[in-house]
Amino acid sequence: MTKRVYNFYAGPATLPLPVLKKAQEELLDFQGTGMSILEISHRSKEYDAVHKKASELLKELMGIPSDYKVLWLQGGASTQFFMAPQNLQQAGKPMEYVYTGAWAKKAIKEAKLFGEVKIIASSEDQKFTYIPKNVSFSANAAFGHITGNETIGGIEWQEWPKLPSDVPLVCDMSSNFMDKVIDVKKFSLIYAGAQKNLGPAGVTVVIIREDLINRVPENTPTMLKYKTHVEKDSLYNTCPCFSIYLCELVLEHLKALGGIPAMEKQNRKKAKMVYDIIDKSNGFYKGVAKPESRSLMNITFNLATPELEAKCVDEAKKKGLIGLKGHRDVGGMRASVYNAMSLEGTETLCKFLTEFQEQNQ
Ligand SMILES: *Cc1c(COP(=O)(O)O)cnc(C)c1O
Repeated sequence: MTKRVYNFYAGPATLPLPVLKKAQEELLDFQGTGMSILEISHRSKEYDAVHKKASELLKELMGIPSDYKVLWLQGGASTQFFMAPQNLQQAGKPMEYVYTGAWAKKAIKEAKLFGEVKIIASSEDQKFTYIPKNVSFSANAAFGHITGNETIGGIEWQEWPKLPSDVPLVCDMSSNFMDKVIDVKKFSLIYAGAQKNLGPAGVTVVIIREDLINRVPENTPTMLKYKTHVEKDSLYNTCPCFSIYLCELVLEHLKALGGIPAMEKQNRKKAKMVYDIIDKSNGFYKGVAKPESRSLMNITFNLATPELEAKCVDEAKKKGLIGLKGHRDVGGMRASVYNAMSLEGTETLCKFLTEFQEQNQ
């Protein structure tokens, strides 16, 4: 049997085993074509069915209203940091951002290339350990932008902000895409690099309310207009076929498991198990995020010293628990428990953390 570890990396991240097996099974001969999906035309009827199915499943599972479009783009969420303001800017209107950590910072930096950016709320005062409350966007903003989950700090929006009507809400959901049920209507533009919670690296999903595609300045390069990709159903140029195919398999798998409500239930259970270990450790493990802003996906914590953390990461690795080191910018430890991390994997982690404390306190 192939040896598989429990992978707690923040991204690219663990994928469901049945999805990997299906891809392996189909790799050399995709649906009787005698070719791999890596080799067939993005205009073939076989690929087209995959492409359409991926968007349909996403619409169905997330309950995406009919006036929204699903796009499959390249360039990662990092490209969306500039593509969103480039397409949604409006002369004389500020773009309003909530500054919650490293990813928001990068988004803000790019938006500044296109006009005035206002940071209307920030959690910098407490090292980005919480999501600001009672955030208020102004009625004349071109749009408001939030980072749904800060992957590095491990903080996540629990309640979405309310915006004045007519002000679109843009959200970077890279690391909490489909982690819980959301009302898509509250957002005008959602983007997410697939490699955290949806599929492999190489594709970025964008969900956009259709009326917004016409705001874009004429002199914008064709590939950087949402309008281009909406009109061509993400097939203006060669799309990342294999990545989209894997997303489609993940979505099918998710549907079979009971969709997002089932996933949310499991995610809440998993996160609670790990946070409980932290909370009941008498300070041996110190949670980084304020409890009311804790992420369901990225659980950040510290031990007394960097040496003890290194030892913990090392011993975990020996037990097949991989990727528990915190982001290099902040140090500490981080367990990413995305949708594809099983209950069993999370239980194994909890058991390890309990034993490690017993042996090292
Ligand atoms: C990983 C991540 C990104 C960057 O995604 P790329 O696809 O690598 O560009 C952006 N935002 C958040 C919240 C992330 O977790």
